[in-house]
Amino acid sequence: MKLKVITSNPGKVAEYQKELSGYGIEMEHVRLPYDEVQTSDLEEVVNKGMDAIIAKGVRDFIIDDSGLFVDALKGFPGVWPAYAQKTIGNPGILRLMEGVADRGAEFRCCIGCDVNGERIVVTGRCRGVITESEQGEGGFGFDPVFSHDGVRTFAEIPMDEKNSVSHRGNAVRLLIDALKSKGLI
Ligand code: IMP
Repeated sequence: MKLKVITSNPGKVAEYQKELSGYGIEMEHVRLPYDEVQTSDLEEVVNKGMDAIIAKGVRDFIIDDSGLFVDALKGFPGVWPAYAQKTIGNPGILRLMEGVADRGAEFRCCIGCDVNGERIVVTGRCRGVITESEQGEGGFGFDPVFSHDGVRTFAEIPMDEKNSVSHRGNAVRLLIDALKSKGLI
């Protein structure tokens, strides 16, 4: 089976390839701009994105979208993590959280997969806390300020360990379960 990974980020294609090649799925990187709806619901962003891609006549593909939802900030930055990174960045998130006792936060990754005319939409989650300061040199985005175990941030743990607990890793595992239960792999 061959699936297009529709993204501007080639790193994602390699990640999917690594996880899914064991199931005989081959990934093909496709850059295809499509409209993203303005909504605070991750699944809606993905479902509408899939509708827009299918309307262009493209089938058998994967898209995904991630968000960071900070409890004390009423879910901010939510489905706009890239914008928050570009504007206030991690120092801005830490400033908003200054003196806040409730540090709980959740990463979510929603994957939409169109395969054999069927639609699979799954959301992987990873709960953790926003740290008091930036820690670690690895990773990207919010990794230096997010800790799943309350001790080390995602920027301080090896990639394999991150994948075993992360929102994206959990979403890929849910996708594999769904493909298996539909007899597609
Ligand atoms: P995307 O939807 O997966 O492309 O993610 C959008 C943005 O969310 C990224 O540019 C990052 O700022 C942030 N983000 C998503 N996943 C992660 C992660 O695993 N660690 C840190 N930041 C992330």
